[in-house]
Amino acid sequence: MMAKFDFDLFVIGAGSGGVRAARVAAGLGARTAIAELHQLGGTCVNAGCVPKKLFYYSSAYGEEFNDAKGFGWETGSPRFNWQQLVQNKDREISRLNEIYRKLLLDAGIAILSGQALITGPHTVIINNTTYTVGRILIATGGRPVLPDIPGGQYCITSDDAFHLQQLPEKIVIVGGGYIAVEFAGIFNGLGVDTTLVHRGRLPLQGFDHEAREMLTHEMQKKGVRLLLNTNITAIEPDADRYRISYSDGNRDATDLIMYAIGRRPNTAGLGLEKSGVKLDKNGAIIINSSYQTDIPSIYAIGDVTHRRQLTPVAIAEGAALARSLYGNQPAAVDYSNIATCIFSQPNLAMVGLTEEQAKSQYADITVYRTSFRPMKHTMTGNNEKTLMKLLVDNATDKVVGAHMVGMDAGEIIQGIAIAIKAGATKTQFDSTIGIHPTAAEEFVTMKQAVL
Ligand code: FAD
Repeated sequence: MMAKFDFDLFVIGAGSGGVRAARVAAGLGARTAIAELHQLGGTCVNAGCVPKKLFYYSSAYGEEFNDAKGFGWETGSPRFNWQQLVQNKDREISRLNEIYRKLLLDAGIAILSGQALITGPHTVIINNTTYTVGRILIATGGRPVLPDIPGGQYCITSDDAFHLQQLPEKIVIVGGGYIAVEFAGIFNGLGVDTTLVHRGRLPLQGFDHEAREMLTHEMQKKGVRLLLNTNITAIEPDADRYRISYSDGNRDATDLIMYAIGRRPNTAGLGLEKSGVKLDKNGAIIINSSYQTDIPSIYAIGDVTHRRQLTPVAIAEGAALARSLYGNQPAAVDYSNIATCIFSQPNLAMVGLTEEQAKSQYADITVYRTSFRPMKHTMTGNNEKTLMKLLVDNATDKVVGAHMVGMDAGEIIQGIAIAIKAGATKTQFDSTIGIHPTAAEEFVTMKQAVL
């Protein structure tokens, strides 16, 4: 019998969510195509998590060479080569792009390179060819925005930061989210004179207040200049530098200005106006709890829906949607207790509720907190501190939040997240025997309640 459509599922965007949805759908027997405008792997692989973490590792060495002296190493005067880092990072990303290509092809998925345009509930055009499709999945992610101020066009975004020809001597980064904070740590660690400008009182809104304060302090100790409650009002080019005017009347000059003030969903040029898919005021695609838009055959997942903008969330949504469409399972993603880490220096990681949220949601919360100098730094002279917090609902004894600022916080909180997701109580944390000597063992030995 002739198939009714060219493909059962047409995925637009081969990023974290799109690739997972396509692979799961194909594995369940759906004839699947995936369209990609740029490189396979999307933001995470090409301009997000992966290159960011590689740059983060590189920048951490600056401090580690210094720390090594306390342990008897003579490191001389290490020299850093930015071009080498960028080249090695690009090689690694090309390797990942190829892995993605192979995974998709091995799953029998048709890869179509180009910009996809939706022309109806069951039709997509790409490279002048029209395909008829049973269902369309929009997984087009988001893009960084530039400021609407005089001179805003001279600024770079995180996309550009991954491809700079050379490292600036001085950079001003604007933003209070994780991308701004992480890049401030990266540039500072690489020896760039770094200023972080944020319009609010503290960066990282939505994270635990005490953890935010602690991280801000640690960043300052490491040399990042923070201009809080401040904004840039105008930028003017001046020879090969830029003059900056601040909202408080101060002025400055710098080699580079990077904006990380948020990301917008990628919906332009998709043909959504004509197809009847509705957007919210942020330009995000509106979906129901089954990831379905107003048009029953069109779905959306990941950053283009402008909700939790994290790779593992996009992946979970892609898998859940494909299983529901082609495997008869409910499209259910549990969004509770999503652990997350800011790859700042030091890391800030959390799972569950902040102290502020816990106190407003529960009648009786006990806060357990410890702050200490990590063992490694007893020999290095590095005065970085670690903070750990557990929030316990006294009515049930359940741990409802865990926070850490310190070395490897992301690695440690990932394990704690499983316990919290499983509903572990403080008594169970306490009866867990620690791994000694680690910083992580503090999470199972916290006896001191903060009143
Ligand atoms: P994307 O991965 O953005 O994929 C969308 C794809 O669609 C892109 O490849 C795009 O080219 C393509 N596309 C768009 N329009 C079209 C079209 N019309 N036709 C064809 N193709 C199209 N998340 C974490 O969990 N941890 C981190 O540490 C982390 N760090 C980050 C650091 C930075 C600097 C950035 C920018 C993001 C980071 N993220 C991180 C977020 C993470 O990258 C995103 O949440 C994730 O990539 C979203 O996946 P997605 O599938 O929704 O979209």
